[in-house]
Amino acid sequence: MPNSSLRQRITSLHADFREHFGSEPAVVVRAPGRANLLGEHTDYNDGFVLPIAIDRCVLFAAAPRTDRQVVLHALDLDETAAFGLDELAPSPAQPWSNYQRGVAHFLQARGHRLRGMNAALTSDVPIGSGLSSSAAVEVATAFAFRALNNLDISLPDLALVCQQAEHEFAGVPCGIMDQFVSALGRRGHALLLDCRSLAYEHVVLPPGVRVVVCDTGVRRELAGSEYRVRRGQCEEAVRRLQAVLPDIRALRDVTPEQLAEHGALLPEIVHRRARHVVHSTARMSEAVAALRRGAAAAFGQAMRECHASLRDDYEVSCPELEALVDAANEVAGCTGSRLTGAGFGGCTVSLVADGAIAEFEQHVVQRYRAQTGREAAVIVCAAEDGAGVI
Ligand code: ADP
Ligand code: MG
Repeated sequence: MPNSSLRQRITSLHADFREHFGSEPAVVVRAPGRANLLGEHTDYNDGFVLPIAIDRCVLFAAAPRTDRQVVLHALDLDETAAFGLDELAPSPAQPWSNYQRGVAHFLQARGHRLRGMNAALTSDVPIGSGLSSSAAVEVATAFAFRALNNLDISLPDLALVCQQAEHEFAGVPCGIMDQFVSALGRRGHALLLDCRSLAYEHVVLPPGVRVVVCDTGVRRELAGSEYRVRRGQCEEAVRRLQAVLPDIRALRDVTPEQLAEHGALLPEIVHRRARHVVHSTARMSEAVAALRRGAAAAFGQAMRECHASLRDDYEVSCPELEALVDAANEVAGCTGSRLTGAGFGGCTVSLVADGAIAEFEQHVVQRYRAQTGREAAVIVCAAEDGAGVI
């Protein structure tokens, strides 16, 4: 049952749809953003991630058309786009509509037959704040097409279509995590995803905790270039380790013991990069076991270790991220805190007891300001269900 603010957003979306199209939508879908609790820089190493779908979402209202046109109103951007389902290509003039164009293209490429549609969308997932508003937009679009055309497509395949759309139509070579959890998340649970096989499990979160995302407000160009360097170093580690471990395909296949034994085969810096990834895989299974027995403190410890590893071995932190993590760790009700995303700015993710949220927010904002002279944006999230028709 939608809560009152979601109900209000739906009502107002209905009104906007009527105003633009002169009729009622046939379907309204929601698709959430996400936050990742554990497993950073592990996706491209075929490893594990542990995201939640959050209680912020794209709402997408749609009705079928008799022709093969798609007409879109992006209410938050006050923009309109129209395109035909037979001439799908990225639009340089309206890049925001490339997610919808790409989703339509890759659904059809898989043999799904689509009708045209009228659609209006609105979102409360902040853009570019590390909560993956783009995946929410893609998944909402795919759910709308699926509902209007009765498509027989599994949710993992739908997530893959969305990822492909982001790769090919938005030019962002993202992993599968964001789209996957937006489609398959579960309220009160995190989603453990094997980025190689796409096998997944829902893992119940301890009661009475919130996931808090804090944004440094800093974005550095370095994040993109260093990301490519890290990927290259991981590939190099695999190539060199294959000399003695011929069966490994990715760092995910290497145990901490194997890395300790054969570490001398790697240049020092590559060894440290590999150590972050290899220990992340080992840490994930322990952390998930801790969640299962309700040991929030042990899970928080895994978040802290993950942060230390990202800072010291993977070297993707920066002074602003350190200030946020330090401030978070000073709050008694904070179970764990770490940087999330590519690094060099961007966001942290923390697990915080319900009763400590107000103190956390106040303390982190004030300490961060004192340390850096900047304002931190604090976004308090709960684990929500993945996308669905409302
Ligand atoms: P994020 O980290 O939030 O995913 P991206 O740059 O990957 O940031 O994606 C943001 C893009 O997604 C926006 O520039 C826009 O094209 C699209 N998008 C996000 N939210 C909306 C919205 N409310 N309406 C229309 N398009 C949106
Ligand atoms: Mg994105």
